[in-house]
Amino acid sequence: KAKGLGKNQYCVYTNEMGIQEVRKMELEKDLQNALEHNQFYIVYQPKWNVKTNKLFGFEALIRWNHPRLGVVSPGEFIPIAEETGQIIPITRWIIEEACMQCKSWQSQGLVQPVSVNLSVRLFETDQLTELIGNLLEKVDLDPHFLELEITESMVFYDINDIIRQLEIIRDMGVKVSMDDFGTGYSSIGLLDKIPMDAIKLDRLFTFDLDNPSKRAIIQAIILMAENLHLEVIAEGVEQQEHIDLLTQLGCYVMQGFFYGRPMENKEISKYVKRDVTV
Ligand code: C2E
Ligand code: MG
Ligand code: MG
Ligand code: MG
Repeated sequence: KAKGLGKNQYCVYTNEMGIQEVRKMELEKDLQNALEHNQFYIVYQPKWNVKTNKLFGFEALIRWNHPRLGVVSPGEFIPIAEETGQIIPITRWIIEEACMQCKSWQSQGLVQPVSVNLSVRLFETDQLTELIGNLLEKVDLDPHFLELEITESMVFYDINDIIRQLEIIRDMGVKVSMDDFGTGYSSIGLLDKIPMDAIKLDRLFTFDLDNPSKRAIIQAIILMAENLHLEVIAEGVEQQEHIDLLTQLGCYVMQGFFYGRPMENKEISKYVKRDVTV
């Protein structure tokens, strides 16, 4: 990339890399004690069913409140945690927290499932099914209220082993969905292979709804999913126009800023009350 640039510009480029490297090293080091220092918290984003005009559930999204750098986005630190292996204790924490939160909502009359993003690295531990079983028992949550979001990056791993683990997990009653559907190369090939309950259409599709050929692709995906008895959830729904076009195509479950940003638990009861009165 630096080819063809002058010498000085090349220097700027490498300096820039240096800053990123330093930040990455700092994050990597600080990730090691972030859990014990209680620096993580969870925000929940609502999913909405436009057909029934009711809540469909919440997705748990992690945030890291770094003491020096402020809130760091998961897009930045999750890949690092995956590299270092920290993703395993972090995921254990987030599943337990999300399940406890879900249980606590139920006691307040808010009966909604919660979904958690699952890094493919968890499948390598050979303890995933045990971990989930133990956490559900510990929290005493009905497994039907937990959903795991996986991604198609699993094609780079032992896919048959992952399928075996997913079958055990679904037999417990936990739901499985394929996140960011359509962003990789193998989405369609996985549709009838992976034991799952839903696909989440990546937000890039939602942003492309005004493009007729993209719309044709989305329509075909929705039809395929329907015939395979998979729920379709659209991500990145920001405008009324998105909702109109998606419902025309047969997609009725939506997640996005239009229905609510990811919020801390204390904001949720306000959000729920607001929606009841709409
Ligand atoms: P994701 O699972 O696809 O989550 C959806 C992301 O889209 C979230 O970003 C959310 O804030 C954002 N989003 C939601 N609605 C809209 C919208 O209407 N417009 C736009 N432009 N964006 C929207 P976030 O929270 O920054 O998370 C980014 C990614 O980091 C997640 O993508 C997920 O892959 C990963 N992630 C988050 N929490 C966890 C976690 O606990 N574990 C793991 N393994 N990954 C996580
Ligand atoms: Mg997700
Ligand atoms: Mg997603
Ligand atoms: Mg995404």
